[in-house]
This record gives sequence, C-alpha cells and structure tokens, in this order.
Amino acid sequence: MSGISILMYHQVGHFPPMKTHRASYCDVGRFRQQMRVLKWLGVPVISMSEALACLIGQRPMPHRAVVLTFDDGCENFHEHALPVLQEMGFPAIVYAIAGLTGGRAEWLAADGHPTPPLMTFARLRELPAAGIEVGSHALWHRRLADLDRSSQRSELVDSRQRLQDELGCAVPHVCYPYGAHSVTTLELAAEAGYRSGVTCQRGAATPAFDRLALPRKAISYGDDAFGFLWKLYLKDAAKGEALRRARVD
Ligand SMILES: [Zn+2]
Repeated sequence: MSGISILMYHQVGHFPPMKTHRASYCDVGRFRQQMRVLKWLGVPVISMSEALACLIGQRPMPHRAVVLTFDDGCENFHEHALPVLQEMGFPAIVYAIAGLTGGRAEWLAADGHPTPPLMTFARLRELPAAGIEVGSHALWHRRLADLDRSSQRSELVDSRQRLQDELGCAVPHVCYPYGAHSVTTLELAAEAGYRSGVTCQRGAATPAFDRLALPRKAISYGDDAFGFLWKLYLKDAAKGEALRRARVD
C-alpha cells in the first residue's frame, strides 16, 4: 500500500539561501511549481480530516493521496501559500501555536534566523471558509516530551480549548512542536480529545501507524520538481526495492 503522503511545510515566501533549517523554508515559486505538479498528475489532495477517515477505515484509501500541512501558522502562509492553494482548489491544514498568535516565531532567533510574524486569531478565523483546517501546535512551541506530565497536559488541553473558543469550531488535529513526543504525550493527546497527531518522523502514513503519531515528508528549500516527486513517491519505492534486493541477495 502506498499510504498517504502528509507533506510538511513551514514558511513559504522569498528567502535568501540558508545552510540550516532548510526544511523550514519553501520558495514561493517552487511551492507553486510543486502544487502544479500535483494538479497536472491528478493527485488527490485531501484534508487532514479526510485522511484520518481513510486511515481509520471509515473511507477507502485513495491511491497516492497527499495532505498539505503548514507548521507554526506564519503570516507568510496567508500571503504566499494561500493564494496558490486557492488557485488550485487544494485543502490544507495550518497548525497554530495558541499562545503565540499575533506574535513572532521567536524560537528561531536562537539559531540566528529571522523571526517571522505569526497569524492573529482574526486571520486564522478566515481560513476554514477557504478550505483550510486549523490544528493545534501546542501553546508555547515547547518540546512536549521534555515537560512534566501536567505541563504537557496544559499544552495540549489549553491550546485546543483556546483555539476552539477563538475559532468557534472543533480542533481535532495536533502537531507536536519539533516532532518531540513520548508515550505520555500520545496518552495525553488522546485524553485531550485529539483524533490525529503528526510528528517529524519521515515516511508515508498508513493504517499501521498510531493515528496520534503519523509520519510526514518534509519538503525542503532545495527541493525542485524532481526532488519533490522523489520524496512523494520514488523514495518509498526505492527503499522497498532495496529491501527486496537485500532479501534476494
Ligand atoms: Zn513548529
């Protein structure tokens, strides 16, 4: 089974070349090219809620489906990614940091990167009408797995509550900051009422995965159309072929 490719994006815009955090940036020209490739190939681009329904057996798994995820809720999503998504008619999900909306991505400063503005609640409220779901990226963008149980619970429960209150809709999806999660995190995410969770583990999502710890495929600054397709479909196939050969040899 090919599974569902849950693609991970962060910022979309115009950026000077960088040496670190390359998976946090996507040039808007490349992003448009990647979305056009999906459109040309007729790839089913589905929402996270649809993907979850497929992964838990409520709907048939579409062949080679893709989910588009955007971590952090940067304002440049609204400026650069949203117009392209609307043009293509693609759904997506933005994972917003409930305690930092309207602020800046200050955590990037520690690595010497610029700190882009984050969308306000008013901005986030506009997204569902455009086919964009809003999920939780916790409260303060901390590594959940490093926190004690009650702090983790607060990050998961309070962020969900705050987003639901502000947006007036259910928030069933979570994305763990830095992908950092433990068995306790998953337990608490279930307790908090989340129905899906995504990590930074690489690969396609299949029904074999815990729905609260789904893997993703990071699209990097350097990915041109071929690199994009490689991550989307060819890498898994190549891995499978290498394994098959190893067994035969
Ligand atoms: Zn993040």
